[in-house]
Amino acid sequence: MTLLMDPALRSIEHKVDEGIPLSSEDGIALFRTPDVHSLGRMARAAKVRKSGRKVFYVLNRYINSTNVCYAGCKFCSFAADEFKESERVVRMSADQVMAKALETGTNFNQIHIVGGHDPRQLSLDYWLPLMRRFKERLPHVQLSLFTAAEIDYMARRHRLGYPEILAELKSSGLDNINGGGAEIFAAEIRKQICPNKVTAEQWLAVHEEAHRQGIASNATMLYGTIESYEHRIDHLIRLRDSQARSPGFNAFIPLAFHPDGNELNDCGWTSGLDDIRMFAVARLMLNNFDHIKAYWMIQGIKVCQVALEFGADDMDGTHGSTDEERIYHSAGTQSGQYVDDREFRRLIEEVGFEPVRRNSTYEEFAHDWAPPVHPEDLKVQDVVDLNAVRA
Ligand code: SF4
Repeated sequence: MTLLMDPALRSIEHKVDEGIPLSSEDGIALFRTPDVHSLGRMARAAKVRKSGRKVFYVLNRYINSTNVCYAGCKFCSFAADEFKESERVVRMSADQVMAKALETGTNFNQIHIVGGHDPRQLSLDYWLPLMRRFKERLPHVQLSLFTAAEIDYMARRHRLGYPEILAELKSSGLDNINGGGAEIFAAEIRKQICPNKVTAEQWLAVHEEAHRQGIASNATMLYGTIESYEHRIDHLIRLRDSQARSPGFNAFIPLAFHPDGNELNDCGWTSGLDDIRMFAVARLMLNNFDHIKAYWMIQGIKVCQVALEFGADDMDGTHGSTDEERIYHSAGTQSGQYVDDREFRRLIEEVGFEPVRRNSTYEEFAHDWAPPVHPEDLKVQDVVDLNAVRA
């Protein structure tokens, strides 16, 4: 055993080495330890046991297809009231979503779309035909669509249970459910920050049913509002238990709260140290999750590069177009909209890891992989095909 400065970490390191799940008390000790270097070293070792030297990124298209929402979450700066803030409303037609996805070519492996609880857009009539269009036009692209909160909303609109709506979505091409909407599972916190959203039990039920049907998913946690360390650890343990019941989560993504333009602005920004601890604690608590993602657009690219030394093994990836992410940009993120894949590879290599291009389900691709040319690519005059440029 390595000599550790904080004695509280010794028994935890022993458990981690033996593959024993950490307890709630262990998790709190990890958040409170002054020995951040040992925490990072333990989390990095756990990452290396999971994914070796690999750190993943994805060539992605990111779209927020609507910001109309009636849920009224207190931490949200993205949602627009369609009657009082009509100038802020973004509600894309299916053709606009398709055009946005193709705006910078077809060489990408995932399309990631989330939006608000918009009664005009969040319906099967809108999504099923669009999903089939994606699969016909871009058969190499995995559809990473919706959050469990959106699926719950859509199920209630259509008077369908989770098994039925998920079967409909899967039959039209849904590959992966995004991890948002989890926020913090504790009911007393949800009541204060997102009273009109799915409960923790509903969120978990959507994901567990999706996994049973062969749809993959990710999980998130919003941290930095009014929750305590105990609430964060409770959240992680509920995710770990859910993964044991119905495996299918690929990555866990800690989402740092951003305070600009929302009702919880007095919570302020998370600190770099809190962000780094969050990655390390997640890696150590979630021993049955393969991947911990450091999403550059949320904690910032520099913190996310450091997070690779604290247990993270994924940096998410490119967005494609230059203006599409609205959720965090409405809340004051300092990250830009665009980082290219060469930059991800450089940042990962600088830390001593091997960059690996992936899709939503972590199938691996050569960094210069390109899809076959689709007949319609030849007809679209104004699309710059990155494949053609590279060739
Ligand atoms: S966080 Fe999502 S569900 Fe909540 S108000 Fe914002 S868009 Fe709506």
